[in-house]
Amino acid sequence: MACVESVLVVGGGIAGLCLAIGLRDRGVAVDIVEVKQEWTVYGVGIIQQSNVVRAMADLGIVDRYLDAAFPFENPCLYGPDGRLLAKLPGLRLAGPDYPANLGVSRLALHNVLVDEARKRGAGVTLGASVASIEADAEGVDVVFTDGRSGRYDIVVGADGLYSRVRELLFGDRYRPRFTGQAVWRHNFPRPEAMDHLCAYPTPNGNAGLCPLSHDTMYMFVTSAEPGNPRMPEDQLPALMRDRLKDYGGIIAELRETISDPAEVVYKPMEVVFVDEPWFRDRVILIGDAAHATTPHLAQGAGMAIEDAVVLADELGRRDDWKDAFQSFHGRRFERCKAISQGSIQVGEWEINHSPEADHKGMLVAMITLAAEPI
Ligand SMILES: Cc1cc2nc3c(=O)[nH]c(=O)nc-3n(C[C@H](O)[C@H](O)[C@H](O)COP(=O)(O)OP(=O)(O)OC[C@H]3O[C@@H](n4cnc5c(N)ncnc54)[C@H](O)[C@@H]3O)c2cc1C
Repeated sequence: MACVESVLVVGGGIAGLCLAIGLRDRGVAVDIVEVKQEWTVYGVGIIQQSNVVRAMADLGIVDRYLDAAFPFENPCLYGPDGRLLAKLPGLRLAGPDYPANLGVSRLALHNVLVDEARKRGAGVTLGASVASIEADAEGVDVVFTDGRSGRYDIVVGADGLYSRVRELLFGDRYRPRFTGQAVWRHNFPRPEAMDHLCAYPTPNGNAGLCPLSHDTMYMFVTSAEPGNPRMPEDQLPALMRDRLKDYGGIIAELRETISDPAEVVYKPMEVVFVDEPWFRDRVILIGDAAHATTPHLAQGAGMAIEDAVVLADELGRRDDWKDAFQSFHGRRFERCKAISQGSIQVGEWEINHSPEADHKGMLVAMITLAAEPI
């Protein structure tokens, strides 16, 4: 039996939904409070690696999840001209019957997680957040922004980069920081040959293509954007084409078709890392709320999902939530820190056109670390 009976999860994103699934399977009552009134996500893709496939198997939703995704084995690195440079390891961590890696549209992933959380009986309130959280010896009193209130055994902040729960715990000690780079993304129809993650790292940035479904793939490119300028929406296609001007091959062909501002998704990179225990009293942070990093290693959501798996596991098998929090933190802190720092490092190499840049070495180190048991 779990050491808690009722949990409030603040934030119905990837981490919060996975935690709700893991806790409901252990008989814990879960309420999710999600600030968005329209509970959806923007429609570009996400790369999920072998450790995430393993985590989804732990959550018991791997088959449904794979149905929504495009599986592949080995990610490959190419020169900007399209020449193959390296084939990276593809590890089948969930077992021989499951793929090593996959691409999935964010919306498809969201729909699977929402459906699985609801099916298991997680309560969901949309369009609200937490106004205050007050812990005492027996529980936590929460006042919501819509005027309701509730009492729970613990509260989990899964509310992302600009976490309100983090602010309630730590004030303004941890503020998101712009790293100096941004990512540009665009969906395209998938040609049959584009059946694995293709990355084209250069000294200045990294472009790539990832299949998302039978019909769709997405392109990404990172770029230095000093000063974090606001990008006028009508200029997004021209600006994205400009950031792709050094690439040849298929990237150059696709570049010339970028013309619709509504199809370009631009995102400045922001990071935060809570460099001390991620909990106080009965309140704990998971996912981006505790450790948002850059997308260079494609592991932010991976770490968020693993957090959810590990926290559900700890709360499920410990007698005391304090021990569960401690043990959770012990299992997660160094791993998330290494991924976070490695990812930021790649971005710094790109910004500084660093001669030390070793994309392949960093990716292999990340794959090796991610393969370790959690
Ligand atoms: C450009 C880009 C590309 C990326 N690509 C990858 C990739 O390929 N692979 C990968 O693994 N990771 C990737 N990531 C990282 C990944 O998106 C995040 O790490 C992941 O979304 C974190 O999940 P989360 O649930 O912690 O936070 P989020 O996904 O941000 O979810 C937080 C949820 O909380 C809600 N919320 C926010 N504030 C409140 C509040 N006050 N009250 C209630 N609810 C609130 C939000 O609306 C949201 O639903 C990428 C990130 C970026 C920026």
